[in-house]
Amino acid sequence: MSIVYFRHTPDRSKIGGYFDEDDGHIYINGRASKVRQSLIIAHESQHKKCFDTKCKCWNSRNVYWCEYHAFRAELKYVAKKDKVRLWQAYFRSVINDLRKFQSKETAYPQHFQALVKVCRLRLFGLYAQKYGNIFAIATAVKRIKL
Ligand SMILES: [Zn+2]
Ligand SMILES: [Zn+2]
Repeated sequence: MSIVYFRHTPDRSKIGGYFDEDDGHIYINGRASKVRQSLIIAHESQHKKCFDTKCKCWNSRNVYWCEYHAFRAELKYVAKKDKVRLWQAYFRSVINDLRKFQSKETAYPQHFQALVKVCRLRLFGLYAQKYGNIFAIATAVKRIKL
């Protein structure tokens, strides 16, 4: 698997990363922090895995399920590392994503629903109580109904 770091691609400047199924590479925003990059790599690697293994989500072009698999992979990655600072960064990143997906300019309703589904996983709740800001997470989840 090759990871390509980008910095100056105008149309992609705001996104954290993406998987390009045409060349099989994972593209990561080189301007993101190292912790953020590791989360993005976990996310995009799952998209690649779903593509490589012909996962149902990818074959049916079901964005909701593709994103659910990718966001769940982020959680699993963090759980495997189990480092306090990574957990804290992860929960900040989740809140940020939940807000982003609900804002007018960057509205991604299916990404939002998929991430909410991850927030409802037992594993998520367990660690969110330990290392996350439960109130901020709950607020971000319930802010707007899509
Ligand atoms: Zn999948
Ligand atoms: Zn994704």
